[in-house]
Amino acid sequence: MKRFIPLKDWNDDQAYKEALGRRGLGELGQPARLKNVDKKLEEKLSREYGYNAMLSDRISLNRSVPDIRHVRCRRQKYLSQLPDVSIILPFFDEHLSVILRSCFTILSRSPPELIKEIILVDDASTKVDLGDKLEEYIADHVPKTRIIRLKRRSGLIVARLVGAKQATGEVLIFFDAHIEPNYNWLPPLIEPIAKNPKTCVCPLIDVISHEDFAYSAQDEGGRGAFDWNFKYTRLPLLPEDLKDPIKPFRSPIMTGGLFAIGREFFWDFEGYDEMLDIWGGEQFEISFKIWMCGGEMLDAPCSRVAHIFRGPRDSSSPRGHDFLHVNLKRVAEVWMDEYKEYIYMRDPELYASIDPGDLTKQKAIRERLQCKSFKWFMETVAFDIPQYYPLVDPPDYASGALRSLAGANLCLDTLNHGLNEEVGLFPCSPNLVRPHETQYWFLSWHKDLRWKYMQYCLDVADKGRNSPVVLFMCHGQGGNQYWEYNMERKWLIHGNERRCLEADIVNFKVFVNRCDVKNKRMQWSFGFTNQTALLDFESNKKFGIRLHTDEQDRRVNFPVN
Ligand code: UDP
Ligand code: MN
Repeated sequence: MKRFIPLKDWNDDQAYKEALGRRGLGELGQPARLKNVDKKLEEKLSREYGYNAMLSDRISLNRSVPDIRHVRCRRQKYLSQLPDVSIILPFFDEHLSVILRSCFTILSRSPPELIKEIILVDDASTKVDLGDKLEEYIADHVPKTRIIRLKRRSGLIVARLVGAKQATGEVLIFFDAHIEPNYNWLPPLIEPIAKNPKTCVCPLIDVISHEDFAYSAQDEGGRGAFDWNFKYTRLPLLPEDLKDPIKPFRSPIMTGGLFAIGREFFWDFEGYDEMLDIWGGEQFEISFKIWMCGGEMLDAPCSRVAHIFRGPRDSSSPRGHDFLHVNLKRVAEVWMDEYKEYIYMRDPELYASIDPGDLTKQKAIRERLQCKSFKWFMETVAFDIPQYYPLVDPPDYASGALRSLAGANLCLDTLNHGLNEEVGLFPCSPNLVRPHETQYWFLSWHKDLRWKYMQYCLDVADKGRNSPVVLFMCHGQGGNQYWEYNMERKWLIHGNERRCLEADIVNFKVFVNRCDVKNKRMQWSFGFTNQTALLDFESNKKFGIRLHTDEQDRRVNFPVN
């Protein structure tokens, strides 16, 4: 019989009052800027870390953040007895003050009795100040915290496993080493585990700007998922999730970097596959394991933790081979049954060339735990993935040359330009259905305009008059890359603002402007239009939901040589 445990208000109102009184750079998560500094050095360090390391050094290690929780979270009560936690932070060449801020703000925003330890796992960093200097600082100033050093660069998955093996808390919490939790983040994150030990819980992830360290919300949550290119993506909340905005909701796939899980449950399924190398795919592996082997995964809206989403960064690959796709193939082979083919189908040559290595141990775990089938996962947990991300790609809406109807027989052309460069006009190829490579466009089912040879898409970020149209990596998320074709008016309509593509036949340029029925330069025809598909344009629901930001896509764009 379950023991009755009374509820408790775990909020620390005093801490929040004090935070409101703090003054200084970046306090309350305000955007911060350095004046009178060596801007070149600031930029160099930013490129090295992917965030403004110089600025971080000038912001308090215990700075305050804004309380952006749903108002009802502030008075929500949780079980008065909760398990203690070990917090595991792997790091490779992070900036010292960023790591320390992660530790300090964890300690200052958590009930002390619940924090058993913080374990930093150094994945063989090369930065000098992460050696003795970090060690001494921690020993003198950061309670409950210790460092484990890996001899060899092993990646975040192995680093987390090594940390977890030494952890003694009842609950394991995995975080990146560049985070700052919000007020009272811990009780809502672990209460669901206290109630059901086979639960894994993720916080809502807020954003710390890599440029100015401003703290802001990303969104109020969505259900995690994947598409058939095996990229992390989102599904909308379900009607039952929307009924109560502060109640934890079920999510098929975790984002990956931040979560809590019962220590015993984690070791029941033997943690991660330790042959997943460096980074990537692990969020799918652990999510499939949790759901298919008898657990469940929740996102807890009252638990918010902010993460630095990195900006552009100069880094080289730690391995001489494509470790990311080895990881992905291991996960697909062990867990996805017949559904793995929908992944392989997207890039048959690549996947055929990848050797996933020895899978016997992982398959034995699945067997020993009598885990359910992937079909069960797809039908019960991630049942709406195919609705937003069809198993087989639907046909293109239109393709071929895009000819301007303003006369002069000009077609949209890459002009042999590359990424981040503008496209323009050029005399049309003789064959409009199958034109020259530089004029071959596809209005894909993602509702973007693709140049398929490089998977570049037409992107318009500018909102002003004559907005330029540039080539950008396709992200499949609409927004600046959203295009639709109006067969009647012959318009190519862009983005939320619903402006039109316009030809400048004098200067051989194109741009986007307010649509105008009288303007012939806004009329275009495709070499081929799939009329049935176009008539069905509206019912393709992909953009009915708010998807993640471009920034998050960097997870997939990790440099692989
Ligand atoms: N990390 C690591 N070894 C690696 C790569 C990353 O220990 O080879 C650490 C990194 O310092 C960070 C965490 O793992 O604390 C997650 O990596 P990152 O933040 O680069 O991933 P992202 O958030 O961009 O997905
Ligand atoms: Mn990170």
